[in-house]
Amino acid sequence: MKDVNILAIESSCDETSMAIVKNGCECIQLTVLTQMDTHAEFGGVVPEIASRMHAENITMVLEETLNKANMTMDDIDAIAVTYAPGLLGSLLVGVEFAKTLSFVYKKPLIAVNHIAGHIYANNLEQKMVFPLLALVVSGGHTDLILMKDDYVFEHLGGTLDDAIGECYDKVARVLDLKYPGGPNVEKMALEGVHSYDLPIPMNDDSFDMSFSGLKSNIINLVHNEKQRGNEIRKADLARSFQDVAVDQLARKTELAIKKYNIKNMIIAGGVSANKYVRNEIKKVTDKYGVLLSVPRMAYCTDNAAMIGAAAYPLYIKGEFADLHLNASSSDELY
Ligand code: AMP
Ligand code: MG
Repeated sequence: MKDVNILAIESSCDETSMAIVKNGCECIQLTVLTQMDTHAEFGGVVPEIASRMHAENITMVLEETLNKANMTMDDIDAIAVTYAPGLLGSLLVGVEFAKTLSFVYKKPLIAVNHIAGHIYANNLEQKMVFPLLALVVSGGHTDLILMKDDYVFEHLGGTLDDAIGECYDKVARVLDLKYPGGPNVEKMALEGVHSYDLPIPMNDDSFDMSFSGLKSNIINLVHNEKQRGNEIRKADLARSFQDVAVDQLARKTELAIKKYNIKNMIIAGGVSANKYVRNEIKKVTDKYGVLLSVPRMAYCTDNAAMIGAAAYPLYIKGEFADLHLNASSSDELY
């Protein structure tokens, strides 16, 4: 069969990214232009600034991607784009750009869900094996998703309130750590011991999780200690928080692995960069002889290569979008 080169576009948050992915498994070129430094000044992503920066940069990112790959639009078989979920204005820039390219160059258009992208990033490393369990952990998501086959998603459970990444970022803020806080909390936790008594969330047999109670508990604890003029042992608090938060992920993962005959476990999303998360999940998968795969960092953080990987099965099935495609901030996964 002839090789299929998909030009993929991702602009759901604060990264303008494009990639050329061959046959859904080989990344020929990946360009990621991050706006992180701009948003860091505000302590979080400012949606209006994000969409404006995408609009300013997207043409340049396309040129660079094609140039570095030594390709032209003639070498491209289809255009894939993230249409949901994310910041609406940011998504719209990518979607409108993709529709324009599809129309002008007469290439089929493929609409890809960002979360499916995070899961399919795995195919860039090794082919996914079903039944597969995906733990999606990011700034906006904490979900356990069962896949019995390509594009057969079953949402088993996930957070009922805040996402784990959001919780890491809030904890970072009360510990006076810089945005984005997750990696800084992880680093600080290495120096501490688990010596703060924090509530264990969702200690039950469901696949549901919760992080907001844990978050509030820590905010109140810091506030009260400050009012009493007491010193906060920051490293100990970071460690205590991380232990409790990640323990919840591991417990719920184990429940799902026990219930379904999981062959392949994957961790996806920005928080999968966390080594403690990887280690704790690895303990569970090792216990049940499940293959654990975590894509390399460049494919874990927001990137277009994962969108190209996720688009490929849709290309094979002939599931194309048309020029009516719209962006959506909905969390629904197909
Ligand atoms: P995403 O939403 O997939 O773009 O991922 C971003 C989120 O992942 C933010 O909330 C980050 O704080 C979080 N994050 C990134 N690296 C780490 C880490 N090493 N430990 C914990 N959280 C992290
Ligand atoms: Mg993401």
